[in-house]
Amino acid sequence: MSQIYGEPLTIIKFNSNGIDFNKALLDEILLHEKVKDRKVVILAIAGAFRKGKSFFLDYCLRFLYANFKSIKNANHTKINCANNCWMGNQDEPLRGFSWRSGTARETTGIIFWSDVFLYDNPSGEKLAILVVDTQGLFDNETSTADNSKILSLSTLLSSIQILNLHGVVQEDQLQYLQFATEYAKFTSNHDTKQSFKPFQSFLFLVRDWNNPDEYDFGFEGGQKYLDDLLIIKPNHPEESKSVRTYIKSSFDKLSCCLLPYPGKIVARDSNYDGRWSSMDEDFKTELIASISKLLRVENLQTKKINNIEMTGEMISEYFQQFISLYQE
Ligand code: GDP
Ligand code: MG
Repeated sequence: MSQIYGEPLTIIKFNSNGIDFNKALLDEILLHEKVKDRKVVILAIAGAFRKGKSFFLDYCLRFLYANFKSIKNANHTKINCANNCWMGNQDEPLRGFSWRSGTARETTGIIFWSDVFLYDNPSGEKLAILVVDTQGLFDNETSTADNSKILSLSTLLSSIQILNLHGVVQEDQLQYLQFATEYAKFTSNHDTKQSFKPFQSFLFLVRDWNNPDEYDFGFEGGQKYLDDLLIIKPNHPEESKSVRTYIKSSFDKLSCCLLPYPGKIVARDSNYDGRWSSMDEDFKTELIASISKLLRVENLQTKKINNIEMTGEMISEYFQQFISLYQE
């Protein structure tokens, strides 16, 4: 049985009057005595509604609980087992951020997991890993401006940003990403004269990929797909050239992971509870491989602002500043 501690906390809410920011609740996490002096790694996911974002993140939580101690589980002992035992029991219902909660959309906003994972790397560096879910991107009810703000804020606040997409990466999604990150870059007061990039890691997570003959599932096939997608060709319209240049210049690391269709039960069964015994075999294999790679300790990029690594305490100050700019 994989244990889960903590709960989802809605820190930022988008509503018709603007943005509500619950700083006190966020500070309970960031200024926690075990977090405030550690460098933070912030993993966030954004993308269209009902495309398996929270589902993916809940499996990430399973991985994190199996591999790291946390502020709510200080007595954790790392399970010493090969490869995929972090997945737990095959018939265990999936818990964590609420997923598949009917067709009614919940609050539009940014949701933090209340627990924080702690990792001391061999060189003595102490990291605190936070996990962030978002709701409300690209659906009918959320205005484009709000959607853009969510992706923008999420990119600004995170060090590993996942954009969850269905089927393929479309040209308009690249433009949308450019628009959102331009605003984030502006808000963070990024010094454009410097050579470092404003944001750290960005992952295009493509769900229900159905061209494995062309580009294989997983990170390797994904990287080839992304490299081909971001090549600037002489016959590209100016707009496509500039969006590619811009995206490449904004992130330290750009990657892509292609996941297969999960099978009918996961995709369609309204009574499905998230257990992995019901997943199609190739989806299960790729899910395990992709999360194990994404959260491998050497891939845990810390959050940097103007090239300075942020601690929990430092980032708490920035959040306030950033959000007030979005509230204007
Ligand atoms: P979110 O709104 O993006 O957070 O989506 P959820 O995580 O709540 O999942 C929405 C639905 O998609 C659930 O019924 C999941 O079982 C299902 N789902 C999860 N992963 C996948 C996937 O990779 N492909 C498809 N087609 N459905 C998925
Ligand atoms: Mg969700």
